[in-house]
Amino acid sequence: MAYIEPAPIKDRENPLESMMERFNIAAEKLGLSDEVYNVLKNPARQVIVSLPITMDNGKIQVFEGIRVVHSNILGPAKGGIRFAPDVHLDEVKALAAWMTWKCAVVDIPYGGGKGGVRCNPREMSKGEIERLMRAYTMAMIDVFGPDKDIPAPDMGTGPREMAWLMDEYSKAHGMTVNSVVTGKPLVLGGSLGRTEATGRGVMVSALAAMQKLKINPFQATCAVQGFGNVGSWAARLLEERGLKVVAISDHTGAFYDEKGIDIVKAIEFRDANGGHLEGFKGGDKMEDPMDLLTLDVDVLVPAAVEDVITAKNVDQIKAKLIVEGANGPTSAKADAIINEKGIMAVPDILANAGGVTVSYFEWVQNRLGYKWTADRVNRRSDRIMKDAFEHVYEASKKYDVPMRIAAYIVAIDKVAKTYTFRGGY
Ligand code: NAD
Repeated sequence: MAYIEPAPIKDRENPLESMMERFNIAAEKLGLSDEVYNVLKNPARQVIVSLPITMDNGKIQVFEGIRVVHSNILGPAKGGIRFAPDVHLDEVKALAAWMTWKCAVVDIPYGGGKGGVRCNPREMSKGEIERLMRAYTMAMIDVFGPDKDIPAPDMGTGPREMAWLMDEYSKAHGMTVNSVVTGKPLVLGGSLGRTEATGRGVMVSALAAMQKLKINPFQATCAVQGFGNVGSWAARLLEERGLKVVAISDHTGAFYDEKGIDIVKAIEFRDANGGHLEGFKGGDKMEDPMDLLTLDVDVLVPAAVEDVITAKNVDQIKAKLIVEGANGPTSAKADAIINEKGIMAVPDILANAGGVTVSYFEWVQNRLGYKWTADRVNRRSDRIMKDAFEHVYEASKKYDVPMRIAAYIVAIDKVAKTYTFRGGY
């Protein structure tokens, strides 16, 4: 039996610590009392389980599964399940809190949660992953529930795993309960519009910000880092709305064309090329892909990984607007310089909340037993994203703070007020 103790969290400029730094600033600006601060800081529930799984070689291996409900003040917890080798309780706790703020900022009636299993799905067979997902679901059967805690995919999991979760949960309840999880395949009650939802929200946030900054989209240039789900959809939708996307990148390299890259062609190339841009001829390959971030463009969309705008390169950023498609692309240390330079940064918890918004629509549709058209999903999510942007913008004026702190203020204020009305013991 192989059971390996979880490794400690790595000592690096951690996006989750960055989040707490901003949370603290916002709490202070709001004048949050110590009592409420402590309620919001500490997770409501932390569950750790051991999952013995029979592997294909006949041996039993024990995996550690975690689920954290950070808050259920606004409603049932919502958040993904990651299958990754470095899943750790502290990280899951912080990610769960992040979900609380993200849901609150877009005003959807959810709290925040997150879960994970410490495993390496790349080294596991489909059967092993299925047994692990089903065992994890059974171990969390009293935690999950359409009115309690609604999981979703995260790193290392996708619609396939969500289908197994739904099936296992449904069997235990003797009926089909598709609203227990979102991110399901369409045939199981997944929502139209979910695939493009996060990139679409990035586009809506970018256009709303450009309006405030008086940047004409038809004369604006843009660079997008990351060409996966979020980056490619954001690039495509921004291009459709008039922006010239002069640079795109993925983990294989960055490509630049001052006349603008044809995004639809780039997507076609990627899809026919094993999912990456290597060998793309629709732009010049940049020597250092990180230079994409410091291009002289109007709009910069980091949509790949965390911690790419840091104290090291923030000085050289020339964009007037940063719209964070990725989670945690900007380190807290870079914030001050971004603000000094007068760059508007639409933060992750606002800019990429289109995804969780359409996940919420999936749950609503499942509960209604009805399917919305893609058009209805898009119109409603655009409205939610636009309203959320306006609320955060107003808060940034009212409290005289950057958009990032304003987003935390809006979120914390909402959860704190709700808590105060509901009351405690
Ligand atoms: P994805 O796996 O589909 O795409 C990631 C992309 O980033 C790929 O193109 C990859 O090649 C590229 N990449 C990786 N390392 C890179 C590097 N060093 N430089 C440039 N490109 C690099 O993932 P995704 O779903 O598009 O998610 C991207 C980010 O958005 C993540 O931070 C994720 O947490 C966040 N996010 C995603 C969603 C969603 O709905 N998919 C929702 C909210 C937040």
